[in-house]
Amino acid sequence: MSGIGGVDLPAPIEPGATIGILGGGQLGRMLALAAAGLGYRAHVFTPEEDSPAAQVSAAATVADYGDLDALARFAAAVDVVTFEFENVPAATAAHLAARVPVHPSPRILAIAQDRLAEKRFLRDIGVAIADFVPVDDRAGLDAAVAALGLPAVLKTVRLGYDGKGQAMIGAAGDLDAAFAALAGAAGVLEAFVDFRMEASVVVARGVDGTMAAYVPVENRHVHHILDTTIAPADLSPDRADAATAIARHIAGRLGLVGLLAVEMFVGRDGRILVNELAPRPHNSGHWTIDACRTSQFEQHVRAVCGLPLGSPERHSDAVMKNLIGDEVRLWREALADPTAKLHLYGKTEARPGRKMGHVTRVGPRRG
Ligand code: AMP
Repeated sequence: MSGIGGVDLPAPIEPGATIGILGGGQLGRMLALAAAGLGYRAHVFTPEEDSPAAQVSAAATVADYGDLDALARFAAAVDVVTFEFENVPAATAAHLAARVPVHPSPRILAIAQDRLAEKRFLRDIGVAIADFVPVDDRAGLDAAVAALGLPAVLKTVRLGYDGKGQAMIGAAGDLDAAFAALAGAAGVLEAFVDFRMEASVVVARGVDGTMAAYVPVENRHVHHILDTTIAPADLSPDRADAATAIARHIAGRLGLVGLLAVEMFVGRDGRILVNELAPRPHNSGHWTIDACRTSQFEQHVRAVCGLPLGSPERHSDAVMKNLIGDEVRLWREALADPTAKLHLYGKTEARPGRKMGHVTRVGPRRG
């Protein structure tokens, strides 16, 4: 296959092949279902027994991400490897990449799992982000507060998701308590953004450099966890175009193969600041299953297998509500609502804060 500038592209990985998925959560589950829809087999690698993804996959390896023997056997059993979870050790990704194609690349994974690397990358490619200062020790926090002022948000550099590893510091904030919350981990202080809306754009990029972006959506969080996604976001055409252009710019500069979710703050003045990147299917893209011609999960499968991307066009407007913890009891109501589509993840224990499923309500497309 010949690509941009006549550069030869790898042959596509065709239906019938096996896609290796690192991580066993609901993103892996929906990815495995989409893979099955296109005739692929999914092989999940996760430390978790009876994981949501393994329940619907052709094969599963239950082993630690550091188990190099298990990883080598996994690599030999699959045709391509992808992720549903980016916090796998860099050594794991490198070990796999030496044996089998890995998309997105370990380099992209390394950027996305380190907030400082991510912020520096974004700044270097000219993407607007909140001001930030690294915090390595208690004196560093004083210096960062002197530089940025308060309020501000202190986050761990690594292993942060769903608001874990972060502390909001108010105008009269307790710096000792915020620093203690880092529990010895490296941190970064971010200027507080007084946003009008949180939005995200999910964009796919194929091996040949073609891209397909879903419409920007609005994300509402409760206790720092995504609660509701509204598609499309209530943005002017100009702001929606700007948000999409930012996501495409980042995907291109990363040299991404696969999906990228770009989380953004939209300021009261319309300024867009990027908050975070996730190089994988994303919770804010679940609505695409029921409201777009190609779901984010199918799109990810197409991209990592080197197939042509599908149309990201939405045929319906949608509101996606996560079922978190006890909210899973709402499944009966969802079944009774003709506009609602219920998705449950096969998790038995409804712990607080745990994403158990989601419901997407669709309606006619406006605009
Ligand atoms: P994160 O873990 O970076 O995705 O942050 C989780 C949530 O915390 C975001 O979705 C925002 O609601 C809030 N948040 C994070 N950083 C900031 C910031 N710099 N200013 C205001 N709110 C923030």
